[in-house]
Amino acid sequence: MWSEGLSMSGTAASSVRSRQAPGGLVVVISGPSGVGKSTICRELVKRLDNAYLSVSVTTRQKGAGEVDGRDYWFVSRDEFQRRIDKGLLLEYAEVFGNFYGTPKDKVDETITAGRVAVLEIDVQGGRQIKAIYPDAVMIFILAPTHKELEGRLHGRGREDEEAARHRLEQAGTETAAAWQHYEHMVINADIKEAVDEIVRIIESARTRRKAIGDKRD
Ligand code: ADP
Ligand code: 5GP
Repeated sequence: MWSEGLSMSGTAASSVRSRQAPGGLVVVISGPSGVGKSTICRELVKRLDNAYLSVSVTTRQKGAGEVDGRDYWFVSRDEFQRRIDKGLLLEYAEVFGNFYGTPKDKVDETITAGRVAVLEIDVQGGRQIKAIYPDAVMIFILAPTHKELEGRLHGRGREDEEAARHRLEQAGTETAAAWQHYEHMVINADIKEAVDEIVRIIESARTRRKAIGDKRD
């Protein structure tokens, strides 16, 4: 049964933080719907050696062209609840009326192997991840203009008119929250330039982390 008292977001498995090997890093990518997060993340994992793009679990309906296990793991609400109860999710949140969560096992494997785990999640989830991994790299993607964001969201054509409007309305709220909690804001005007900038941010964070690790050894 779906818990009536379930909080909007939570860290079901957050008390268990796995060991990060040198070079191991969690990267959170957030931003308004339609800004280009998925496009950026796909390019990003091609550019970084040894990066893993986390596949979230969601109760949202599968959109046209989306593939189970590639874009998301599409599950029922009961199944999502089961995964929370079993501590299988690193974080989860309700976004636009559906639940989304990050499977814990693959992120653990990735960072203990010294690799980079890329999480494309919302700001509520990002804050939960930062609480678990204080050195997570927090990147928020902005559109060059609101009009451009609207064009991209409509151009993608996945949502109906009302759902698209709701997503656009949330963009300002999410961006305001991000100014408080994200240390990097990247404007996605040109996709290649945005990905280049994110690669530079991640490389420099990895170098810093390795230097700290070396000093500790
Ligand atoms: P999100 O994952 O943030 O919801 P998507 O990656 O699905 O966004 O991108 C939404 C639409 O915007 C897609 O049609 C994508 O091809 C397009 N897009 C992404 N980045 C750019 C860009 N820099 N310039 C123009 N269109 C873009
Ligand atoms: P979409 O339905 O457009 O694929 O995603 C809607 C929102 O849910 C986006 O802001 C996306 O970043 C967020 N999201 C996707 N997966 C997760 C997740 O595992 N956890 C959280 N907290 N948000 C997610």
